[in-house]
Amino acid sequence: MEIQEKRELRRKRNQRKRINRIKTGILSFFVIWMVFSMVMTTVLTYKVVSLQRQINIITGKETVTVENQYVAAEDEGDTYLTAYETAEDNLADPKDTLKVYLTFDDGPSENTDAILDTLDDYGIKATFFVTGKEDEHSKEMYKRIVDEGHTIGMHSYSHKYSDIYSSVDAFASDLDRIQNLIYDVTGVDCLYYRFPGGSSNQVSNVEMARYIEYLTKNGITYFDWNVSSGDATSQAYSPDELVENVMADVVKYKTSVVLMHDADAKDATVAALPKLIEALQGVGAVILPISEDTMLIQHVTLSGSSPEQ
Ligand code: ZN
Repeated sequence: MEIQEKRELRRKRNQRKRINRIKTGILSFFVIWMVFSMVMTTVLTYKVVSLQRQINIITGKETVTVENQYVAAEDEGDTYLTAYETAEDNLADPKDTLKVYLTFDDGPSENTDAILDTLDDYGIKATFFVTGKEDEHSKEMYKRIVDEGHTIGMHSYSHKYSDIYSSVDAFASDLDRIQNLIYDVTGVDCLYYRFPGGSSNQVSNVEMARYIEYLTKNGITYFDWNVSSGDATSQAYSPDELVENVMADVVKYKTSVVLMHDADAKDATVAALPKLIEALQGVGAVILPISEDTMLIQHVTLSGSSPEQ
């Protein structure tokens, strides 16, 4: 009798233990699940915010501020990169004459002739950051850009992020290729560069400092932009909207470097150009090609090298 009671007690005790273990298991599962969800929510929110920021930087809606960049550099245990807030001392007073540099990336294209014709009609000089194309038409376009007094700049040979940002060697050989092509075709020793994606490009998660340093060592100056026409965004802006996008920002700065594109599909840019030139002239802006005298507009710079001139 007693033995049976003891057995019964033991059985109940074991059952309680089992139930408790299951309860603890379920509870732990929920706690872990909740913590995991909270962590994931935080991480994803951070990612979304930082991606939005990268988009803003790339589309010219935002520049990297000193503060933000320092934080980023510290986070990586790397104080090498610094940044420069161009907007600060570049803010225009009403009495300032606005300097505007129109820049066209990604050409030559089927639209290069039309862009050059319009610039010629208005007697305007601009800047073309070209990529490497070796067909006869493209070579003609490199020559026309140079012969008509525009500034020719490099925008990499291949424009393939995965290639040019894979290593300094790859970057250097791509740079050599575009520099030699321009020299062979036009006789110009090209010393201006625009990084595909800009110096703030983080699309390939690269350390841009290595490439900035390489350019600097080789006497090449890179230009980003502080005004974007928006012609490279997924939004299909009308010519009038492109003009509005540029004019909304140009009036803010003493020096504006305007990002536009010379590409087959960018017909709206071609159509916008005469209106844009007239609108800029309407506010008394001076339209110039990039030269040694141009204030450096750079999203990211190396510490110790001030972009101010
Ligand atoms: Zn490009």
